[in-house]
Amino acid sequence: MNHRIQRLVSMYSELGIEGFLISKRENLRYITGFSGSTGVCVVLKDGSGVFITDPRYDVQAAEEVSEFEIMISREPALSEAAMWINNSKIAAVGIEAAAMTVASKNELAGLLTGTDVVETDRVIEKLRAVKDESEIVCIRQAARIADQALDAVLRDVIKEGVSELDIAIELEYQMRRHGGDKPGFDTVVASGPRAAMAHGAPTDRKIRPGEPIVLDFGCCYRGYISDMTRTVFVGEPDAEMRKVYRVVLEAQLNACHNLRAGMTGKEADALARSIIERSGYGDRFGHGLGHGVGLEVHELPSLSPKNDSPLEPLSVVSVEPGIYLPQKGGVRIEDLVVLRPDGIENLTGSPKDLVCL
Ligand code: ZN
Ligand code: ZN
Repeated sequence: MNHRIQRLVSMYSELGIEGFLISKRENLRYITGFSGSTGVCVVLKDGSGVFITDPRYDVQAAEEVSEFEIMISREPALSEAAMWINNSKIAAVGIEAAAMTVASKNELAGLLTGTDVVETDRVIEKLRAVKDESEIVCIRQAARIADQALDAVLRDVIKEGVSELDIAIELEYQMRRHGGDKPGFDTVVASGPRAAMAHGAPTDRKIRPGEPIVLDFGCCYRGYISDMTRTVFVGEPDAEMRKVYRVVLEAQLNACHNLRAGMTGKEADALARSIIERSGYGDRFGHGLGHGVGLEVHELPSLSPKNDSPLEPLSVVSVEPGIYLPQKGGVRIEDLVVLRPDGIENLTGSPKDLVCL
């Protein structure tokens, strides 16, 4: 039984379950190694279990899944899982309440003959918040690829008159060129007043002098995602935008410098928020400082005023303060970092000083 399965089954008695049905894609990958899109897995408390998928994935499942019996079936995986659970005669099976539809849950409950269905809350997601070094290697590489893509785009692409879409396409192309599997999420390129939107999708709007351009992007490498943001200018920004940039940078550097495992998500958030509040822009920083990143671009833990739980060592989180001024623009600076026992390892290498192209 590998370490991940061990950690999972160690939760069972507390959850009141004897088996766990995994259907969420990223959780399936984390526990079984399967990187395809369709399948379910049932894990019993002794660590044994079954992985069920359809014939499209027979070769892939045999290559990737080593810890569980593999069942290839043309029948719906959920009904096969229900029959397998019925045969295993367990009293209760946990399901991923946040990932399963109401229809699937009802179907499962209707097919089970002597097993209760127990809704659980992000059990595997909580395990995934703490990375092992093999995962960090992939995230580090994904972050490096994004750095290289940005460097190329700053050098050759961004100038007055090119569109947000031109920049986004080139960023994504460069990430592929440097070894990324695909973009990690929808690339954000938002210029001028559109930079006031924290997640502006790129449009055909053309870049004009003096305006901020928020670039928020990352790539997927072997299933793991990176996430970074830089805000750059073509030509000289005005005095207010310069000030906003200075405040965001100071907040971001302070957070990177003082962030530690063991502090709560709220305390981490305050490292940046206190600086932005002191500058008078507190109400223009409308999101948390950061989020976990791994198999998903947004995962646990959360660095936000709402999180009173301590951050665990070996979490990988974003550090991304921002200030957004409606009609005017915005600035966000985001790095991806690993929480190490004595501070952070910053996976993002791109410079953060004000860039005027
Ligand atoms: Zn981002
Ligand atoms: Zn982010």
